[in-house]
Amino acid sequence: MAWLVRPNSVSPCLCASVVITTAMLLIPQPALDSLRRHGEETYPHECCGVLLGRMNGNQRVVESVVRAGNTRLDSLHNRYSIDPRELVRIQRAGRERGLDIVGFYHSHPDHPAHWSQTDLAEAHWLGCSYVITSVEKGRAAVTNSFALAGDSEESKRFEPEAIEQIE
Ligand SMILES: [Zn+2]
Repeated sequence: MAWLVRPNSVSPCLCASVVITTAMLLIPQPALDSLRRHGEETYPHECCGVLLGRMNGNQRVVESVVRAGNTRLDSLHNRYSIDPRELVRIQRAGRERGLDIVGFYHSHPDHPAHWSQTDLAEAHWLGCSYVITSVEKGRAAVTNSFALAGDSEESKRFEPEAIEQIE
C-alpha cells in the first residue's frame, strides 16, 4: 500500500505559531556535580535531596541543590523518603531567596538511572523534575531526569526530559 503514501502532499501545520516548550531541566554544573557526589557518599544507600529554582513554562531552572536525609531506614538501598518537616524547612528557606521547589533527586545504587514503580507511586509533585543517578560500585554513572506530568494522582506519569547544563 506504499503507493498511498504521498509525504509531499501534507499541508503545512496550522499550529506552528503555538509555543511549545519542551520539558527540560536546566542546572548549573556545580549543582549537578553536587547531587552526583551525594550519591557516591551515601553508597550503597540511596541519597535524596531537593532542587530549588524557578519554573519557566515546562522548564525547570535549578539554582541550588539541597541535600536531605533519607528517612527510609528500613530499606536504605532501594527506597528514599524526605522527612516532611525537613521538606517544609527547605521550602521556607527557598522562598526567602525567591526560589521554589522545582524537583527532587535520588540515587540508584547498582541499578539503572530509570524510575521504578515505587518512585512513581511516591511522587506527588506534579510539574516537578525527578532526577535519578545510577551509582555503580560507588561511582556516579548516568544521571537522568523525568518530569512528573499529568494533572492528577490518577493521570500522573513520568516523562523523560533533557538535562541541560547552564553557566
Ligand atoms: Zn528510585
